[in-house]
Amino acid sequence: MQLGVHVSISGKIFKSIDRAKAIGCTAMQIFSHNPRGWKVSPLLDDDVRIFKEKLNESKIHPLVVHTSYLINLASPDEDLYKRSIDSFKLDLERADMLGATFLVTHIGSSKDRDIQYGIKRASDALNSVLEDDKNRKIKILLENTAGSGSIIGYRLNQIKAITDSVKENHSLGLCFDTCHGFASGYDLRDMDSIEELIKEIDSLLGMDRLCLIHLNDSKGSLGSLIDRHEHIGKGKIGIKGFEMLINHQAMRDMPMILETPKKEEQDDVKNLSTVKGLRKPMDS
Ligand SMILES: [Zn+2]
Repeated sequence: MQLGVHVSISGKIFKSIDRAKAIGCTAMQIFSHNPRGWKVSPLLDDDVRIFKEKLNESKIHPLVVHTSYLINLASPDEDLYKRSIDSFKLDLERADMLGATFLVTHIGSSKDRDIQYGIKRASDALNSVLEDDKNRKIKILLENTAGSGSIIGYRLNQIKAITDSVKENHSLGLCFDTCHGFASGYDLRDMDSIEELIKEIDSLLGMDRLCLIHLNDSKGSLGSLIDRHEHIGKGKIGIKGFEMLINHQAMRDMPMILETPKKEEQDDVKNLSTVKGLRKPMDS
């Protein structure tokens, strides 16, 4: 199973691969720069070369890059909107340079405007990014959100509406975050609910669009709109839900990235081993 965690890039960006390998990741996610600052120093050629060598050797796949937290592709504020598009383009370019398979992004918030406005705004932003950049192989994955306020992407039909309005939408996919999904009202604690979710993804977007799972338990209860990740099995989704989800036929081959809390050194190791322990051999 392709399973990993979000890894720090502190020091040199290529050190993230050593960190991922050291804890047994077979997939990984990084930021390509500080996700909370607009100022981004360019990637050095040597660092990129070493990064790619290490990535190839490690056999880690896929490499996922997450965009900056400051990006808001649905913003009604002209300045922030333009800045967000530029910053998104830069994240896309950097992820591509590093050999990433996926760039995961949050869509953003339409603030005091309605969801329809935000959907149109985000579609326009993605159209302008992809128009200049049709030839990249990397896929952009829109991540579902926990759904507080006017943050777009808490129902899958919003992600469908954006995907349908983007011309080069072969480059778009879905990253489903289990914590966000649960907080926004998608139950994952029993098989019927999981089946229902899979049906919804399939009927709205098609299963081909689902490319990645962010595997996180949730501190908040079902429909709470609270975006707080918890260790696998220790939150409101609970261990049974994860066991059913990761062994489901439609999910088995999906790469999974943990974004669970990291207070102690061993936290990632523990969560990875919990997930691996839930995995059942394929039915014959
Ligand atoms: Zn996530």
